Amino acid sequence: MGYSIAIDGPAGAGKSTIAKKIAKEKHCIYVDTGAMYRAMGLYFLRNGISAGDEKRISEKCGEADITIAHADGEQTVFLNGENVNAFLRTEEVGNMTSAISVYPAVRKKLVELQQRLAEQADVVMDGRDIGTCVLPGADVKVYLTAGSAVRAKRRFEELAAKGEVCDLGQIEKDIIERDERDMNREISPLRQADDAVLVDSSGMTVDEVVEKILSLCREKEQGGI
Ligand code: C5P
Repeated sequence: MGYSIAIDGPAGAGKSTIAKKIAKEKHCIYVDTGAMYRAMGLYFLRNGISAGDEKRISEKCGEADITIAHADGEQTVFLNGENVNAFLRTEEVGNMTSAISVYPAVRKKLVELQQRLAEQADVVMDGRDIGTCVLPGADVKVYLTAGSAVRAKRRFEELAAKGEVCDLGQIEKDIIERDERDMNREISPLRQADDAVLVDSSGMTVDEVVEKILSLCREKEQGGI
């Protein structure tokens, strides 16, 4: 097992922006586990399988071959050989993904893939269950959160910058619904690991959050926490 930093938290907390910067500073690979779940969600959307059909989803998830590659700090996700990065970050895929990620067969497959990646390289991994389930022995664990209105506004700006038409009220509603489902599902729900440090980014800039996490890493390296 290499060096690892686990960053968990709810939708729109800024995990991927922060994790990418930390990975660069610490010379680690950034692993976006949400993108792997999203590729799985995309697969079921494309195949017209409904999110409620656990039986078919469990049977079919073996047919979705998900692999990832890294170049210049960016992660590329391949679904059955196709680069699907451009299709992953829509609200439609996000909502489908949160609905199918409650199923044990889906989680088992992706957790194994994530654990293999962390064995092969030093990683900054973000998601919902990294500190609690995927990498319980991570060197540094952070639970990154922010108020739902702040998170909705950030997601809105991210989508608007890509030219997607969206509605702020609807995004906040989706975020609250997604949090609710992610926090209350039976297997590996989103929660702060006992040994994770809570960082509320509501009133913080990206650089302040990055500096806070780097200082946690330094403390850990000096045998502090
Ligand atoms: O982080 P992101 O918004 O891309 O994640 C999409 C969805 O994937 C989440 O709402 C959650 O349901 C699921 N997910 C998960 N476990 C992870 C990462 C993401 O269940 N480690």
